[in-house]
Amino acid sequence: MQIVCLDLEGVLVPEIWIEFAERTGIPELRRTTREEPNYDVLMQYRLGILKQHGLGLPDIQKVIAEMGPLPGAKEFVEWLRPRFQVVILSDTFYEFAMPLMQQLGFPTLFCHKLEADAQGFLVNYHLRMPNQKQEAVKRFKELNFKVIASGDSYNDTTMLGEAHAGILFCPPENVIREFPQFPVVKDYEALKGEILKASERI
Ligand SMILES: [Mg+2]
Repeated sequence: MQIVCLDLEGVLVPEIWIEFAERTGIPELRRTTREEPNYDVLMQYRLGILKQHGLGLPDIQKVIAEMGPLPGAKEFVEWLRPRFQVVILSDTFYEFAMPLMQQLGFPTLFCHKLEADAQGFLVNYHLRMPNQKQEAVKRFKELNFKVIASGDSYNDTTMLGEAHAGILFCPPENVIREFPQFPVVKDYEALKGEILKASERI
């Protein structure tokens, strides 16, 4: 049996913070680790902005539910699940992802979690562990699974490298240039083809 590990944002759903910033008209939330490399500072900043705007978890989840998965993502997951064990490895938070996972039929998701206060305002976040994506793939290999992984950006490259086969899905140009060892696909049909090819080979 083989496991396919998929990144979530940029592969099955939109980039949640960016899309959330658009939909709520709060441009400060577009800030990413590119502008603020210290992740903890960035997260505390984001949680502060949400509170300033009076947005508690139920409001946030309503906006996220309206985003929906990327076009074709649901059908892709439906194609994949009878053929492979599918595990989504993401650096997002369960509280954000759940409205979207529901629309994808609740595939298995390993990610991080948020903490809300009694009023529903987000006050903190808890990372499962450092480098969760790569560590998960390592553990699956120890359980004698063959692993195929796909993701779109930097935070996926250690997972892709750890897997028996790694595939980049719609990555930015700089990632393509820096990681020429991984095949690049730009749509779900091509991703299906590349997964089947890897499955034969590993
Ligand atoms: Mg991504």
